[in-house]
Amino acid sequence: MYESFSQDVKNEIASSHIKNKCCKKAFLRGMIFGTNAPDEGALYLESENPSVVMHYAKLIKEITGRRKESDISFTAITDSDRLSELCELLEISSVVDTQAEINGCEECVRAFVKGAFLTCGTVTYPENSYHMEFLVRGNERAEMLISLLDGIGTNPKLIERRSGFYGVYFKDSENVLDMFGILGANKATFKMLDVKMYKDFRNSINRLHNCEMANMGKTAAAFEAQMRAIEKIVAAGKLDELPDELKITLDLRAAFPSATLKELAEMHTPPITKSGVNHRLQKLQQFAEKL
Ligand SMILES: [Zn+2]
Repeated sequence: MYESFSQDVKNEIASSHIKNKCCKKAFLRGMIFGTNAPDEGALYLESENPSVVMHYAKLIKEITGRRKESDISFTAITDSDRLSELCELLEISSVVDTQAEINGCEECVRAFVKGAFLTCGTVTYPENSYHMEFLVRGNERAEMLISLLDGIGTNPKLIERRSGFYGVYFKDSENVLDMFGILGANKATFKMLDVKMYKDFRNSINRLHNCEMANMGKTAAAFEAQMRAIEKIVAAGKLDELPDELKITLDLRAAFPSATLKELAEMHTPPITKSGVNHRLQKLQQFAEKL
């Protein structure tokens, strides 16, 4: 298991360049959305990923113009004036606002989703399963995220997680790949295609193997039936009643039990076809059945 895959994706998102001011605001709104603030009185960013923290602080600095403050001063905003200033700039009524629309350019919704992924998203390394999830506090927020994701052509699912939290998730490779595209996570896309190709290849090898095993099972069962038929004919003393051609095939089969049908066919003089051998062996079995 490759634990840091989520962090790799986040690093890639956090290092991407955001061109438009509207998208920067939407991105920051997404990050705030993903912090899952319990109420409108305070905003805390909790992330173990330094590039996420730096990206968050950078966006707040750019949007509020408070460029000189330390990055850390933005990870816990409890001052109500500062919070309302930030919300006003982002055109939201509070940090828990789920009603405000995202009215920017056509890239803004993607920017919001990227921001949200940084603060509440995870994705498993594709080797074992495909699973990307946004962990969101409250049904209302989950529904808001779902409608945004629906709107950009993906099909998220909803699951209730621990105490008031909801998982908005994707569980199939197609949707996860689409999401990597939306998140602009190109390295993750390549990684996933790589692993997926290897996985598909391995699955096809397994299928082939299972198929061969099944065929071997069939061959073994057919061989068993042939040998039982031969024993029965011999035990009944009916060898002489067999037509010559069947007797020749019976002798060869009994003498070379491990030979394949093709090999048996070639041992006949003159050689016959594989289906010819098969036909004769079936006749032998029919003959034995009547005894
Ligand atoms: Zn925009």
